[in-house]
Amino acid sequence: MPQKKKFYITTPIYYASGRPHIGHSYTTVLADALARWQRFKGADVMFLTGLDEHGEKVEEKARLAGVEPQEYVDRINEDYVEVWKKLDISYDRYIRTTGADHMRRVQAIFQRLVDSGDIYPGSYEGLYCTPCEAYWLPSQLDEDGNCPDCHRELRRMSEPSYFFRLSKYQKPLEELFAREEPFLVPAGSAREMINNFLKPGLQDLAVTRSAFDWGVVAPNDSKFVIYVWIDALLNYITAMGYPDNTADMERYWPADIQLVGREIVRFHTLIWPAFLMALDLPVPKKVYAHGWLLFDNVKMSKSLGNVVDPLVLAERYGVDSIRYYLLSEMGYGVDGSYTNSDFLQRINTDLVNNLGNLLSRTTAMINKYFDGVLPYVSNVECSSEESEWDLDLRNAGESLFHQVDTAMAEPRAANALDHIFTFAARCNKYIDLTEPWVLGRDAAHRDRLAVVLRNLSDGLRIIAALLQAFLPRTAAAMAEALGLSAAPEQLTWEQVQVWGVWQPTEKIAGGVHLFSRLDVDAEIEALNKIYSEQ
Ligand SMILES: [Zn+2]
Repeated sequence: MPQKKKFYITTPIYYASGRPHIGHSYTTVLADALARWQRFKGADVMFLTGLDEHGEKVEEKARLAGVEPQEYVDRINEDYVEVWKKLDISYDRYIRTTGADHMRRVQAIFQRLVDSGDIYPGSYEGLYCTPCEAYWLPSQLDEDGNCPDCHRELRRMSEPSYFFRLSKYQKPLEELFAREEPFLVPAGSAREMINNFLKPGLQDLAVTRSAFDWGVVAPNDSKFVIYVWIDALLNYITAMGYPDNTADMERYWPADIQLVGREIVRFHTLIWPAFLMALDLPVPKKVYAHGWLLFDNVKMSKSLGNVVDPLVLAERYGVDSIRYYLLSEMGYGVDGSYTNSDFLQRINTDLVNNLGNLLSRTTAMINKYFDGVLPYVSNVECSSEESEWDLDLRNAGESLFHQVDTAMAEPRAANALDHIFTFAARCNKYIDLTEPWVLGRDAAHRDRLAVVLRNLSDGLRIIAALLQAFLPRTAAAMAEALGLSAAPEQLTWEQVQVWGVWQPTEKIAGGVHLFSRLDVDAEIEALNKIYSEQ
């Protein structure tokens, strides 16, 4: 048997300086949908996420909390694991940078680069942002002379340090950005890297710190800890066993896609590939920079006090409501905007009125007119108009997989969902056109009615199969309502491209409600109350 195609996908490892919020959830839910989509297509998927637990900021947070840094990150880690569980995140591996294997491997890699001359000793003087743990060049500052990432004030620091010879990789990185198959998408992000960093010329990067202890000790010089960003970036290969355990590394590396928020693009598309080049490893096939989820158009952040709790939303409205909202709201590389009102309205319009209604109407009619068992009718006389409606629906259903697959390859998850929900709307429209309740009044139209309901059920089967990657619980509930719980073979990526496959193994009971209609104003009030009491 030929070996399955592999698919390695990563989220950034999140910084353990605070609890997870809905912004982290967006990245992780997107990664989860992409991973599930590839599994659906039969790939051997490796989905990696985890926690970045070192650095000055963590050390300081722990001190403020009056606990040891390890205890502090252990608590944060519990929060993350709980949220991922609640959001049905199907990661295959989870890495923490305080893990012994990771730390040992980071040291081995660092030593290797010292030996090869890619890392060398020197001394650093420059403008430093403590919250971002980054040095900045005068040319990189914002209009006020502050940190270009967080816009806080910088301080002048001078310290001995080891440096990574980033400048040596100027040319290979230029070539990487010029290659035909884009390394970084969307294109706007790539242009930013070229204009802001590659064109001015890359400077060597300080890769050690000596002002604090909470990090991986430099193996060749114990006065230093390794810069938290280097420690963090290496997780994508240490989690695969590099450099000492090569089986998974050979199987999965290079990553097929790495997801990053746009504030960390520079690290992932300049420094990270340069490190890989220095190690003679291939670079990731693609890096996708997504926008931020804005809360009423302001970036969500703890300091602004506008954090939305994904656990509260998942608990109250079901995990698939929040998954649906995140995946459909975030456009390709642009910012999404969250408001409670928008979230609640989308549940009503898309999940209740469109999808939920289609399923409940179809199954209720099968139950009502055929007692839950639809006869198989092969050929029915019908008007040319009617056969056109049937053919349109069939064509739309059969081409849906390809549309979704194309969108997911980019990755445009919002477009993928839009295709699916547009098809659901089309099925609802088909009900309006064919008027099954009129057909049901006359025994002479019984065969035609059976054909109409079979077409609708087949459309729903395709929707349920495709939604497995996005809304796994909803997909399972739909399959059950369609009598397909025991027939997963009708929900595969191959069968989803074929019309007329639906063959339930159970009676259709009807009376299914996927999502409940919400009173938006009352819910906004309830949410405000919950948050104010937290
Ligand atoms: Zn900063």
